[in-house]
Amino acid sequence: MASNPNVNSPHLTADFRNDSYWLDAAGAALDDLTGAPETLPKRTEVVVIGAGYTGLSAALELSRAGRDVLVLDAVAVGAGCSSRNGGLVGPSFHKLGLDGLKKSHGTKKAHSVIAESRDCLEFLVDLIENENIDCDLRRSGRFRGADKPEHYEDLAREVEGLQKAVDLEADMVPRTEQRAEIGSDAYHGGVVYHRDGHLHPGQYVAGLAARAAAAGARIVGQSAVTAIRREAATFVLAVGTRRIEADQVLVATNGYTPPALGWFRRRILPIRSAMIATEAVEPSLIRELSPKDRCLGGTSRLMLYYRPSSDGTRMILGGRTFHLDDRPMSYTKDLHGQLVRIFPQLAEVRISHGWSGTVAYTFDHVPHIGQHKGLYYAMGYCGSGVGRSTFYGNRIAKKMMGDPQGATALDDLDFKTKPFYTGTPWFLPAILRWHAFMDKR
Ligand SMILES: Cc1cc2nc3c(=O)[nH]c(=O)nc-3n(C[C@H](O)[C@H](O)[C@H](O)COP(=O)(O)OP(=O)(O)OC[C@H]3O[C@@H](n4cnc5c(N)ncnc54)[C@H](O)[C@@H]3O)c2cc1C
Repeated sequence: MASNPNVNSPHLTADFRNDSYWLDAAGAALDDLTGAPETLPKRTEVVVIGAGYTGLSAALELSRAGRDVLVLDAVAVGAGCSSRNGGLVGPSFHKLGLDGLKKSHGTKKAHSVIAESRDCLEFLVDLIENENIDCDLRRSGRFRGADKPEHYEDLAREVEGLQKAVDLEADMVPRTEQRAEIGSDAYHGGVVYHRDGHLHPGQYVAGLAARAAAAGARIVGQSAVTAIRREAATFVLAVGTRRIEADQVLVATNGYTPPALGWFRRRILPIRSAMIATEAVEPSLIRELSPKDRCLGGTSRLMLYYRPSSDGTRMILGGRTFHLDDRPMSYTKDLHGQLVRIFPQLAEVRISHGWSGTVAYTFDHVPHIGQHKGLYYAMGYCGSGVGRSTFYGNRIAKKMMGDPQGATALDDLDFKTKPFYTGTPWFLPAILRWHAFMDKR
């Protein structure tokens, strides 16, 4: 865990940490759930590569069905996005929107993909309830504000279109009534999605890992898979100098997909996304900012999303960064500026944590699930992955067992790459700067 590299910054606490705020509560549990590489077996039925929500959701389903499952992580349980995200949950209607989906995939497919987005959320909620996972899930809704006056009408049209396609509880909120939703005048009205909510991402990944382990899955950290080859019906995985044989392999590495998994890496755009958490303040101040404990955000291209912490003492805000690598001093300053722009009430409140992770985008803006050369995969949730990873992790596990209930709306979509793309999106900083410029116009 890195401590404050620049204690002189007035907007940072003296004990500022370049690490996920969620690990304060969940870090010890995640360490306990991560087995040591010395325990690696030589053979297993199924290897799952990646101990995030996707891999663990799949491991839970496979282990419950009696499969011998080994989950390998290069670092530890939840080391990727699954302990670093904002914990905002919603149906994550498609990045392209209904119209964009219709254009690229036709009306029928667009409707089934949108409907499945809602299924992802309901599946997540049911799983947390049924498994009794203590992760502060609250369906307190989400307010999405119009960053520009003309965005209000765009939002209204979007909601109307979605309501024709799926059962969506949403209401437009004019600017005159906005203060009931958010303690800010930064928006020109907005929309409330009533069935969205938030959870504690660290506690959720710890709970999911605990349930998978209790069902029989072995979870081992510090075990990066560096090569995979096939020998007849068996997969042989290299983990450092060790060899592990398996009948089936699931690739659940998402935005952290390594060069050893080149076919997948060439199909994923790892976009760095960063978050900050304020120091603890009086809960009354946080209630002033989000009176209904809602998740919050706007319509800007650079996408800011924020929420009260689960204990209601902090505001936690995320957004894109302009760099491919982790530069905490740069994004913490930028995000702090955005936070104070939205909530001038927080001008004197300091930032205690700043961290980032790599979100997996795809070239067609849809997640992908399936099989390539015998390797199963589910990935590319395009920034909205808490529900999707849980749902598609479960569905890919069912597919691996030949269960027809593993069918999804995404099954027949080609997982495309672009010529000359090798997995490093060197072009992204320029695109993000363009988006930032357009946001300011
Ligand atoms: C800052 C941030 C904010 C976000 N906010 C939200 C949000 O509010 N709501 C939402 O829905 N989504 C959000 N997301 C996205 C969401 O967190 C992800 O979509 C989701 O966690 C993906 O889970 P996963 O299991 O597929 O991948 P990950 O959790 O990233 O897991 C992949 C794992 O693979 C491991 N791995 C990689 N290579 C190897 C290897 N060679 N061998 C073994 N293991 C390997 C990694 O160590 C990692 O643990 C956010 C993401 C970020 C980064």
